[in-house]
Amino acid sequence: MPNEVLNLKRNITAFYIIVSLILVIYSIIHYFIGGLKFYIPFFIISWLGFTFSWLYFRKNNDYEKTILYFFLSGSVVAYAAFLQGGIDKTGYLWSILLISVSYLLMETKKANLFSFSFGMILAFTILLHISGFITLPYNPLSYLTIFIIISIIVYVGNSVIRETIEKLIFLDKIANKDILTGLYNRKKIIEILRRELARAKRYNRPLSILLIDIDDFKKINDTYGHNFGDKILREFARLLRMSLRKLDYSGRWGGEEFIVILPETDKENAVKVAEKIRNLTANYFEEIYGKKITISIGLTEFKHWDKESIDLIIYEIIEIADNALYKAKRDGKNKVAVK
Ligand code: GH3
Ligand code: MG
Ligand code: MG
Repeated sequence: MPNEVLNLKRNITAFYIIVSLILVIYSIIHYFIGGLKFYIPFFIISWLGFTFSWLYFRKNNDYEKTILYFFLSGSVVAYAAFLQGGIDKTGYLWSILLISVSYLLMETKKANLFSFSFGMILAFTILLHISGFITLPYNPLSYLTIFIIISIIVYVGNSVIRETIEKLIFLDKIANKDILTGLYNRKKIIEILRRELARAKRYNRPLSILLIDIDDFKKINDTYGHNFGDKILREFARLLRMSLRKLDYSGRWGGEEFIVILPETDKENAVKVAEKIRNLTANYFEEIYGKKITISIGLTEFKHWDKESIDLIIYEIIEIADNALYKAKRDGKNKVAVK
């Protein structure tokens, strides 16, 4: 299981345990404080809600929905504080806090849904107060003023944060990915090679790389047009991604040349991967377009050379793979060659 998912699971469970403890401790404290027994049923309903949300998460792993259910459960206690007034009549602040934080933890649509429904319940309660059915311990007008001001601040803040995040994601994409194929670009691949080769060297682990070149691509462009050529590059990139494991890396080395980094893979296993990609490519384009579009692959395994500089090692490993690729071309293309 990927680390992030494990962390998320742990965080959600930790959060659930902490909230449960708080609710139990508060229930016990409030039981002994005169006049505050009022809160206990709300604590219990809220705790049931949290328990349901946590079980839901364990079963469905749906982070977004779980957070929404957490907020709905929390709003039960916030609503109790709103009704009762809390310490120094600041109870209503909990509802404002909950709505503000919902925009940080949930996607905007869900936060809107939550804030709108919770806001409606609060508005209805204020109406009951105005028409004399219940008595809130503070002036609803001052509450409304604070509510509106904070809502505006949260809304503007949230938009700024979202915009910044979107820009960062875009910049990251431009900086590290090839626009046409969506694979890593040469700069990012070199960065990855530095890291992976240093690791392989230090822990004495195998690592192989494949240099892939589409055969007679110039002819494809000349015969069917540049747009068709671009389409083939994109589809080949997709095939490449599909054929690799999660820990492998693929990138566009330039033009119609691609590179694959296979950590923890020796020559024998790398040949299997390369043959799989070669076969898949030849069959796929034959089947879909009825055209013979093939690739040649140069393969080499990192051999723990005594060179100190990782950059020199990168230079060397690429040169060896390139020689292998050249051999595959010389041997008639649509081949895998190993050096
Ligand atoms: P070989 O089998 O020996 O590799 O022959 P080739 O024709 O594939 O190799 P060559 O290096 O002669 O030609 C590569 C061609 O790839 C020429 C270039 O126009 C084309 N190419 C490079 N980048 C792109 C691109 O982004 N889109 C398209 N459509 N073509 C590209
Ligand atoms: Mg080429
Ligand atoms: Mg080529």
